Amino acid sequence: MRRRPVRPRPNRNRPTFRRPPQHPRAARALKLLRRANHMMETGHFIEASNIYLELARRAEDRSIPRSPQLYLQAGRALSLAGEIDNAVTRLRKGLQLMLDYQQGQRFQFAIQRVVQDLQRQGFENHANELEEEFSESIKELPKSQDSTQTEHPPLPPSCPDCGAVVRPDELEWINSTQAYCDYCGSVLEGR
Ligand SMILES: [Zn+2]
Repeated sequence: MRRRPVRPRPNRNRPTFRRPPQHPRAARALKLLRRANHMMETGHFIEASNIYLELARRAEDRSIPRSPQLYLQAGRALSLAGEIDNAVTRLRKGLQLMLDYQQGQRFQFAIQRVVQDLQRQGFENHANELEEEFSESIKELPKSQDSTQTEHPPLPPSCPDCGAVVRPDELEWINSTQAYCDYCGSVLEGR
């Protein structure tokens, strides 16, 4: 007969986070974010986009540097739902905010990804429109330094705290092995 493991069961009411947020507002935002990411995975794109948009607006109100990614994610959810005009509005907003916040390097990767995403989803015209709109900004940016890209170890594919997809090129790196999650601000460990 097998012995029962002696480890205590996790308390279902209080899930253990790797790095619990201290501020109640941050805790609420993290909960919403996890819900939105789950909605994306299960194909509930409109519901997901509403949450991302709400979080993006709140973050923008407080000038939080990750608000652009939340707008981009709202846009991605909307394009997956087929709401392409609304999607482009959110994508444009996210890209513009990246420029406003001087996140030039992230912007370079983000615009490429946004354009490719739209093309893959069959929205060629909208992809071209956005690329054209930001063409001047793309030209003005300094060339990204490839050497800084290769120094980092690989990160987990998704954030252990909020479940968002991790895009190493668009993250803010703290040092050579750690970066902030672009959605919830958790520290991601490279290995
Ligand atoms: Zn996260």
